[in-house]
Amino acid sequence: MFDYLVVGAGFAGSVLAERLANGSGKKVLICDRRPHIGGNAYDFYNDEGILIHKYGPHIFHTNSKEVFDYLSRFTEWREYQHRVLAMVDGMLVPIPINLDTINKLYGLNLTSFEVEEFFKKVAEPCDNVKTSEDVVVSKVGRELYEKFFRGYTRKQWGLDPSELDASVTSRVPTRTNRDDRYFTDVYQAMPKNGYTKMFEKMLDHPNIKIMLNTDYRELEGEIEYDQMIYTGPVDSFFNYAYGKLPYRSLEFKHETHGVEQYQPAPVVNYPNEQPYTRITEFKYLTGQVHDKTSIVYEYPQAEGDPYYPIPRKENAELYRKYKELVDAETNVHFVGRLATYKYYNMDQIVAQALTEYGKIIGMKRKEAAVKVAANGSIPMPVSVVMPGNNGHNGIGQHLNKLKEERWLQKQ
Ligand SMILES: Cc1cc2nc3c(=O)[nH]c(=O)nc-3n(C[C@H](O)[C@H](O)[C@H](O)COP(=O)(O)OP(=O)(O)OC[C@H]3O[C@@H](n4cnc5c(N)ncnc54)[C@H](O)[C@@H]3O)c2cc1C
Repeated sequence: MFDYLVVGAGFAGSVLAERLANGSGKKVLICDRRPHIGGNAYDFYNDEGILIHKYGPHIFHTNSKEVFDYLSRFTEWREYQHRVLAMVDGMLVPIPINLDTINKLYGLNLTSFEVEEFFKKVAEPCDNVKTSEDVVVSKVGRELYEKFFRGYTRKQWGLDPSELDASVTSRVPTRTNRDDRYFTDVYQAMPKNGYTKMFEKMLDHPNIKIMLNTDYRELEGEIEYDQMIYTGPVDSFFNYAYGKLPYRSLEFKHETHGVEQYQPAPVVNYPNEQPYTRITEFKYLTGQVHDKTSIVYEYPQAEGDPYYPIPRKENAELYRKYKELVDAETNVHFVGRLATYKYYNMDQIVAQALTEYGKIIGMKRKEAAVKVAANGSIPMPVSVVMPGNNGHNGIGQHLNKLKEERWLQKQ
């Protein structure tokens, strides 16, 4: 007899299993139909002994101290700032577009002030921003849109940016300086020993039983439980009552090469000619030293595992119908990216799961994240200061606080 059956051992399911067991002393059975824990963030050592991410590169970044502190109970971190280059016109240039991107692409020598003028000159203002195309063209103009965004979006989504909601590219970060970091979050780091090790520690509790290679339907009638946490696809839960929710999928092609370094950046984007969207070289992300190197190509496709909900109005409407069924369920909690039909980053899913746990026990997320069951104990977070990132001076700390507050408001 279990208190909770948790379906899915990704971030959503694992955080909830950990909290229910550690925070409330509940008995939890967590199952996953895949042969491993970690969901899409699963990593493992391949045959050559190189740590790779099975389902594409997962880079952890957040503005939430709360989320970072929570995960720090289960892992130490390796500081990591992500950088991406794009192959455009036969050149490798930084993305997001910055001062160096423009200078290299056009053989110019502009200053920060001049590049600001450049962006103003090429932008094509649009009064009624409706589509992804409108978002980009109104910010960087048609030429940069075509070089960097149009082809990439068509490959990624199988749709032209003019057919996609503005939300897909709601913000096009352009920089007038040389900052070539892909993310600007306060906390940017990778679990020191990988994601899977972090998940193992999260689920290592006498009250948590794990069943892999197990679809939750196989357990129906076989085990008893009070409530379910469901992190699988919402349409499948209701037997596709209103039809399938559309997803975009990916094929990952993994390769290992007999060289120490394959490419000059962790990720190289290919917005145009090639059928793949990007190549990632894992050793940059993990910091592993090895005389060979492993890479992964990503080929977007229509069929396959559900990865990205397709953000179109009609799909949102279809989801709304499923949401009515969700709201009518009393014993099932729907959490995570598949159960809520929305693309979320890992930190957002952790926050969502902590919030759900808070709701279950009638506490605010902040208190819920640190609750300890009677006779239990929680290891204190490893305190990590990100050099140059987590401001040592008053101004840095003030800015970080503002970023965190803004992040919390958005959740
Ligand atoms: C290619 C790619 C790259 C990404 N990169 C980043 C990144 O760099 N940074 C970032 O923050 N986020 C990234 N993300 C997002 C990240 O993967 C998600 O935020 C995170 O995995 C969501 O966790 P989850 O638990 O909601 O879902 P999942 O990780 O998908 O876990 C759900 C689990 O439920 C299981 N399941 C489903 N149905 C059943 C069933 N019937 N029975 C049993 N088990 C079931 C599945 O097998 C799966 O393991 C990326 C996503 C993709 C697709």
